[in-house]
Amino acid sequence: MSTLSAEEKYRNFIPDESREYLEKMFAAFKNNVTIEVYTENGPHDEYNEFTLNICRAMNVLTDKIELKEYSLSSEMGQKRNIIASPTVLISPDQYDIRFLGAPAGEEGRALVEALNLASKGISGISDSTKEILTELNDDRLVKVFSSPTCPYCPGQAINAFKAAIAKPDKIASWCISTLDNENMAREYEVGSVPHTDINDTATFKGLEPEEKFMIQLLYLKQLDEILAEKNIKEDKPVETDSEEIDLVIIGGGPAGMSAGIYAKRSGLSCVILEKQGVGGQVALTPKVENYPGFTNVQGFELVEILGAHAREYTEIHQFAEVQDVKYGPRIEITTNEKKYLAKGVLLATGVNVRMLNVPGEDKFYGHGVSYCATCDGNFFKGGKAIVVGGGNTALTDALHLKHLGIETTIVHRRDQFRAEKVLQDSVKREGIEILWNCVVTEIIGDDQVESARIKRNDGTEFDKDTDVVFVAIGQTANTALAEKLGADLRDDGFIKVDPTQRTSVERVYAAGDVTGGVRQIITATGQGAAAALTAFDDFTRLFDGGKTTKNIW
Ligand code: NAP
Repeated sequence: MSTLSAEEKYRNFIPDESREYLEKMFAAFKNNVTIEVYTENGPHDEYNEFTLNICRAMNVLTDKIELKEYSLSSEMGQKRNIIASPTVLISPDQYDIRFLGAPAGEEGRALVEALNLASKGISGISDSTKEILTELNDDRLVKVFSSPTCPYCPGQAINAFKAAIAKPDKIASWCISTLDNENMAREYEVGSVPHTDINDTATFKGLEPEEKFMIQLLYLKQLDEILAEKNIKEDKPVETDSEEIDLVIIGGGPAGMSAGIYAKRSGLSCVILEKQGVGGQVALTPKVENYPGFTNVQGFELVEILGAHAREYTEIHQFAEVQDVKYGPRIEITTNEKKYLAKGVLLATGVNVRMLNVPGEDKFYGHGVSYCATCDGNFFKGGKAIVVGGGNTALTDALHLKHLGIETTIVHRRDQFRAEKVLQDSVKREGIEILWNCVVTEIIGDDQVESARIKRNDGTEFDKDTDVVFVAIGQTANTALAEKLGADLRDDGFIKVDPTQRTSVERVYAAGDVTGGVRQIITATGQGAAAALTAFDDFTRLFDGGKTTKNIW
């Protein structure tokens, strides 16, 4: 018989490495937050139980979170217009922020951030968001469809929650898990996540920057259309607080997180700014088998561990997008909330997926074309998938899809893969079909993808039936900030660095995938560490002791 008290049992529901971080975060809450959980016995019992456990766990970690539990059919359930079990409401007397479905995995991350935002209230909302939404006079119901394995989803849900906090009398924001709300996902034709529906009128696919999200929410149209019609300026200068700091690390992937640990241990003050959730490309990797110390770990688990370790040393601001950088004696880094005046900056800005650029790719993006197998694989269970590419990502994705029960075919432009042999062996063992020397030239269908046109290297073509095309043909480096700072790029578009991670511009460093090369987690963490140590050496030389107040301007 278990001797654990109920309280201990709920505490233990949260992994050790996250508990400490959450306790610290909850302790700093500005205002108390109420969680209401609504459940009804039935086919969703497993999801209900998970939801109750996670909410009870949050409740026992702090006295700043009050928990109330109701049944769906209760008077309260009817008053709050609850339509799904489980549903979680956050401070419902002030806001309509709700989670439909169990907030697991990445959705759990969105839940924590929703609690944090609700505790800050309007003080946590940026001036630009408040300004954009002052013009809103009609009601908005925002539905962000998400999945537990989609690292892009919390960012979009958080945009919606911020809107609901900025304008609570007009905006309701729901985060809907597609895993346990399949019918609703089908009704809204969700084929990839995040998928945002506003007032059943406008649909937006993918994660969007905060300001863009708010403007689209206001006008219920794509930003391009709005700009064309109204001639609105995208960037409005906003007054922000400023903070002096040694090193700003831009990017919360393995390179950035490792740099944060090393910078702080060297005695530098630093912060990590990450426009999405932490993790970078690793968060998108179903399985990692080549990071020393971990024989087999899911990408998101490794991210949790790295994140918890980095947070022991440094602050990580997730969902903090850098809007501008200006080089000078102190480098200015501006987010939508703050301006940092830094001695140096480390660019760990990672990469973005490369597109195929074939007909049908744009049209079917979000319902039959995807760049994230971990996010969207579940929608195609029992169906057919094509994965394009021959690198580690393509083969890892193909194996993940095959394990989900999807009939998977890899289409590769050459007659050999560049992926690791161990992945090639697994693909062979799993009997995954491979079309060698072939490229996808078109994605075909009416409302849904029906097939892909495949061109062989000898010029002949054929159509291959499929429900979805996953594109995994490599990435392009995120170098916009590097270019703004004047750092040189290599011919292949990655940032040029020396072996100590210095770029061509003094006090600007780069590490991780954005510098090209072998692009492994282990090399990214190594480069992050080296960059932080180099920054420490440089600051010591340039600023007389690194940590002293002597300025160079
Ligand atoms: P990658 O290694 O650059 O491979 C891209 C693949 O797409 C190549 O096979 C390439 O063909 C093909 N390709 C490129 N452009 C194409 C086009 N226009 N049409 C058709 N095919 C095209 O990219 P990745 O697989 O995303 O990996 C990126 C980095 O992350 C690599 O360093 C990789 O090792 C690392 N990674 C590691 C792991 C892991 O270790 N578990 C997992 C994922 C990624 P060619 O081969 O003919 O050039």
